[in-house]
Amino acid sequence: MPPTLWSRHRRRNAAILAAHKRQHDWLSRVDLEMMRHALRLARNAGLCGEIPVAAIVYRGEEIISQAANDREASNDPGGHAELVALRLAGAKLGRWRLHDCRLAVTLEPCPMCAGAIVNSRLQALLFGASDPKAGAVGSLYHIPQDARLNHRLPCAGGIYKQEAAGLLKSFFAQRRNAKRADYYKTT
Ligand SMILES: [Zn+2]
Repeated sequence: MPPTLWSRHRRRNAAILAAHKRQHDWLSRVDLEMMRHALRLARNAGLCGEIPVAAIVYRGEEIISQAANDREASNDPGGHAELVALRLAGAKLGRWRLHDCRLAVTLEPCPMCAGAIVNSRLQALLFGASDPKAGAVGSLYHIPQDARLNHRLPCAGGIYKQEAAGLLKSFFAQRRNAKRADYYKTT
């Protein structure tokens, strides 16, 4: 990348971090790097016909596991990126308690994944785009911060939300266009 472009990116990333840190002082440069990595994974998942959502479980600067949405390929109703990444992290670390790990996911987790996040005792959660139809971290419910449950964790949403939502929007627009093209082919 040319130096001017790189420094522009660096400045933008620093500004995004500073803006989010005002609300969430636990966020660091590493958290944002993990989200950028998740966005790259999500883009690749979209190219493979999966809904472009990806998640990373990390401990400090170390990536423990990463996964993209794979429901189409696996026919698994639980094939959401977060759930797959949590399972892989548990298998890799040899324990289900992930209290020293954080999770970055490009879309607000659904009730199933938010439940798994609480149950895995994660240290913190960050996500990209909000999901007004199914989100369980602020949109419909706020499962990871529900005082009635036995674990709560800090959550930060809207991290690179434009990029995360843009991936989803262009994926569904392309899918609609493809369906329309098929319709005209068969009629
Ligand atoms: Zn989910």
